[in-house]
Amino acid sequence: MSYKYVFIDMDDTIWDFHANAKSSLQELYDNRNFDKHFDNFEQYFEIYAKRNLELWDQYGKGEITKEALSLERFLHPLRQVGVANEEVAIIMGKEYLDLLPTRTALVPYALELLDYLSDKYPLSIVSNGFIEVQYRKLKTCRLEHYFSHVVLSEEAGFLKPDKRIFEYAMKLNGSMPAETIMIGDSYEADIIGAQNAGIDQIYFRYSNTSTQNLPCSFSTDSLREIIGIL
Ligand SMILES: [Mg+2]
Repeated sequence: MSYKYVFIDMDDTIWDFHANAKSSLQELYDNRNFDKHFDNFEQYFEIYAKRNLELWDQYGKGEITKEALSLERFLHPLRQVGVANEEVAIIMGKEYLDLLPTRTALVPYALELLDYLSDKYPLSIVSNGFIEVQYRKLKTCRLEHYFSHVVLSEEAGFLKPDKRIFEYAMKLNGSMPAETIMIGDSYEADIIGAQNAGIDQIYFRYSNTSTQNLPCSFSTDSLREIIGIL
């Protein structure tokens, strides 16, 4: 198969979202002395992370706005320990979105892969993240120069796995599905999304250790192995 265009997801494929989110939340937690409300940061993080996942699922389906998501993920842990305060939750939501893009942990071998791919292919980000956050991450980590296009769901008008965000990215590149391949860590968003658009896929199992046998064109546990595939 000879691919001419490569699309790649951002969070937890290039930029280590899990590590960066956790260290940002730890800072917010410490600043507000939340030890007075929670046993420890791990307890807070567990409550937050579970609710955050549910909210992203609802946001992906268009059931809630991003403002509702930002508020509720910070309100929920406070509610769980009986100190719900909408004002605090709103401020924390803003502080978090300011802090998060200043973090710079990348997934292992991300830079090696980007160096290799950007030499060989026009490379485009295809991401569901918020516009203001994703561009700041790229800038802080000095990653912008690797990409021909940065395609974000808010700009495209559709979230992965909707095939129309991939069609939007192909239109920007002037590429056809058969000559395009998508790399991503979310089976639901990246792999099924690319399949919906008729694009081959590389499933990067970074955060999904239990999902070994799902159908995809290629799968790998390490970004370094993708150099061998492409
Ligand atoms: Mg991802």
